[in-house]
Amino acid sequence: MQRRHFLWTPPALALGAAAGPAMAAPAIIGSQSPILPRKGKGPRIVICGGGWGGMTAARYLRELIPNSDVVLLERNATFWSGPMSNKWLVDIVGTDFVNRDMLHPANKYGYTLLQTEVTGFERDKKQVRTAHGLIEYDFLILSGGIRNDYEAWFGNDQRAIDYTRTRFPNAYIPNQEMLSLKSKVKNFKGGTLVMTLPPPPHRCPPSPYERACLIAWHIKKNKIPGKIVILDPKPKIAPIGVGYKQAFEELYADIITHVPNAGVREVDPFNKQIKTAAGDFKFDDAILMPPHQAADMVWKADLIGKDVATGKPTGWADMHNRLFHARSDDRVYFVGDLMGAISPQFGHYPKSGHVANYIGKIVARNIAERVAGKEVVARLPDNLCYMMVNGDPQEEISVKFEYEVDASGQVNQTQIDMDVRTSDLVKEDFAWINGKFGDFLGI
Ligand SMILES: Cc1cc2nc3c(=O)[nH]c(=O)nc-3n(C[C@H](O)[C@H](O)[C@H](O)COP(=O)(O)OP(=O)(O)OC[C@H]3O[C@@H](n4cnc5c(N)ncnc54)[C@H](O)[C@@H]3O)c2cc1C
Repeated sequence: MQRRHFLWTPPALALGAAAGPAMAAPAIIGSQSPILPRKGKGPRIVICGGGWGGMTAARYLRELIPNSDVVLLERNATFWSGPMSNKWLVDIVGTDFVNRDMLHPANKYGYTLLQTEVTGFERDKKQVRTAHGLIEYDFLILSGGIRNDYEAWFGNDQRAIDYTRTRFPNAYIPNQEMLSLKSKVKNFKGGTLVMTLPPPPHRCPPSPYERACLIAWHIKKNKIPGKIVILDPKPKIAPIGVGYKQAFEELYADIITHVPNAGVREVDPFNKQIKTAAGDFKFDDAILMPPHQAADMVWKADLIGKDVATGKPTGWADMHNRLFHARSDDRVYFVGDLMGAISPQFGHYPKSGHVANYIGKIVARNIAERVAGKEVVARLPDNLCYMMVNGDPQEEISVKFEYEVDASGQVNQTQIDMDVRTSDLVKEDFAWINGKFGDFLGI
């Protein structure tokens, strides 16, 4: 086990009363004055991004460091879950299942929730810049998820970017695109629906295939004269490749076409054409997913990694692969999909809600150990994803990842695919999501 020793020194000046639950109503004093006076004498930990990872970290920090002053900054008014959102697109679960109240966990666990946009950082002064003003921190957690790298397709052609984002939304980031995509699926009258998949690493690798299956199920059920073409940059379906291939062939042979090695070369959203390494395609409608990168906040914090060979940005956080803090600033931690590579054997941890939740707990524990003046213990997550491939009867496949450290200190991954679709896995999936929502949403 790898251990590190760090110490935390309490702030010289701690203002205000003891830490406790709060819904922030920040006074806007002026753009240069810090807002949100500190609560109590414990450490102030600011978390940027209240999704799967950020909300988990907030809960566990409050539990592990009872006098901590935890502030969670989130741009959205409510929580939208990626997990289960494919099922929501085709009405297998309702809106209240994937869209949840964030004030309940903030009150229950006693952290401050502020709905605001994180706009930048003054790391030398340990301050976060937000739309409401500056916020001080002792420790900072960046958990803003991903951004769509449309520039990889369109350079600085903002017209093409805006057109693609608004006409062919992919709903891989929790925002208004989710409602927009749902209405696109509902109103799909037929023709060719193209889905582009991003190159790895990207958010939740098995989920675009799940989405294709469930939209195909919707097309089949409603006898819509439609087809789905999946343009996949990978040479084969992965993960759970056998299970997905069987679902495509046995359930949706006349609806889904999977095209491997179809890395996108050029997209013309106005004329509905895509050039790929596997040929050119026209579409009637599309779900266009460009490459993924770490959320803007990591770029704004100037903490994006650089490729050793080329010196170019990796697109992901530059971090210690076992302790999850920035390599150049040990007061800044990363949680969730924005994290950088972990191991030469497998690259990144899967960019999943399961891993974000796990790392949220690990990082909370790491910070608690530092605050207590203890050695920090390096810990490993695991990963588990359930994917629905059939809506009637409801059947799922799944994938599990386990991790261990070898004698050289390298983290190694074992992948276990469950390719046989069963209804038992559906029950496991709902037990899994209810357990996770209980963990960080407090329900
Ligand atoms: C269709 C789909 C299906 C999926 N299925 C599964 C599944 O079955 N199992 C699974 O484990 N995972 C699944 N995932 C993946 C899962 O959703 C993500 O891996 C998970 O949400 C990552 O958590 P995170 O905290 O890193 O990011 P998020 O949950 O996206 O949270 C990031 C938060 O940061 C906020 N934010 C970003 N920038 C700012 C800013 N500047 N200011 C303020 N707030 C900001 C965002 O609004 C967001 O709320 C799925 C994802 C999708 C899209």
